[in-house]
Amino acid sequence: MTALPNPPVLQERGQREVFCGLTGIIWLHRKIQDAFFLVVGSRTCAHLIQSAAGVMIFAEPRFATAIIEERDLAGMADMNEELDKAVTRLLERRPDIRLLFLVGSCPSEVIKLDLSRAALRLSRDHSPRVRILSYSGSGIETTFTQGEDACLASLVSELPASEDRSLLVVGALADVVEDQFKRIFDDLGIGPVHFLPPRRAADLPGIGPGTSFLLAQPFLAETARLLEQRGAIRLSAPFPLGAEGTTAWLKAAASAWNVEPERFERVVSPCRERSRAALARFRSDLAGKRVFFFPDSQLEIPIARFLATELSMQLIEVGTPYLHRAHLAEELALLPPGTQLSEGQHVERQLDRCRAAQPDITVCGLGLANPLEAEGLTTKWSIELLFTPIHGYEQASDLAGLFARPLRRSLSLVA
Ligand code: SF4
Repeated sequence: MTALPNPPVLQERGQREVFCGLTGIIWLHRKIQDAFFLVVGSRTCAHLIQSAAGVMIFAEPRFATAIIEERDLAGMADMNEELDKAVTRLLERRPDIRLLFLVGSCPSEVIKLDLSRAALRLSRDHSPRVRILSYSGSGIETTFTQGEDACLASLVSELPASEDRSLLVVGALADVVEDQFKRIFDDLGIGPVHFLPPRRAADLPGIGPGTSFLLAQPFLAETARLLEQRGAIRLSAPFPLGAEGTTAWLKAAASAWNVEPERFERVVSPCRERSRAALARFRSDLAGKRVFFFPDSQLEIPIARFLATELSMQLIEVGTPYLHRAHLAEELALLPPGTQLSEGQHVERQLDRCRAAQPDITVCGLGLANPLEAEGLTTKWSIELLFTPIHGYEQASDLAGLFARPLRRSLSLVA
């Protein structure tokens, strides 16, 4: 067994400034097109989801909050009964729903409402038309991307068993990105390829010892653990961000499928060259610029690797809420030697270091961005990295653009 990279990491524990896992609903409800997310929570939870999703609400949104009222919190009403009624009403009104997630919150956990039992009970009434699952999006000790991990982990137990050889790509990707990857895997002769989450509830892929999986996102620790428990094998790779990250990610699958190196080069080179050329347009804006990452999305290390190795940006500090050394081993190996890493959050100390360093751009959560902008620092909201398609060859320049635009804007403000 090869030793994992073991760079020094500053451990931080203290006050945190993060969103909770409910946030994941904003991108997950767009991905699984016949799913519905019913948050069982308070008015605060409803406001969070509404304001985060406000600009993206469709005519028929696929999420809602079943509000836990004061009398429920005081134990004066039977919450299970109320929940059953709310779910029945919802499913009568929305026959298009095939997969319903009951999403736990801080209030539902405080009153110890057992949503996994509720999901089992409700499934008996509504299956086979609707599959009902539960997960927790509560936010006390989590990061906002862990909501996706919890959601996908709840799907793993639903995947049918299969002995067949297949590749599973794990992590919500924009449809356009999935289609691009699918085309490349087809050209490489790798397949069948499935995606988790699937676009439709009925398309849950089979898994078993013949399944190899590639993580598309770095925050899926629990999902990966459960897939491995079902016999699937994780292919170690950097994440598919940037021209080089995408190539290395595809290469991991190509090696597992024994694709001839010449065929790999023939298929991949035109995409990689196009991507490199598109990235070159951003180099003059970004090369040498200094970037500071606050811990927020868990995407910090792969993004930092991309910015440093493909755009020559300088990493002042790369903070991450949680460092999964096995899943990030290939990323850590690619970081420039001596990169300052930190794990966990102590927001005051991190703010002090950030102010002292005066970075050209700071990647952080929404709560820190406004005060830092008011102090004259240029910021990038890490949540945008989840809302924007950034994976794969064609999107690498969009990812670079997310960093170049605020820098150009601040330069023009100063000029
Ligand atoms: Fe706030 Fe908890 Fe509701 Fe998230 S789940 S909005 S942290 S109360």
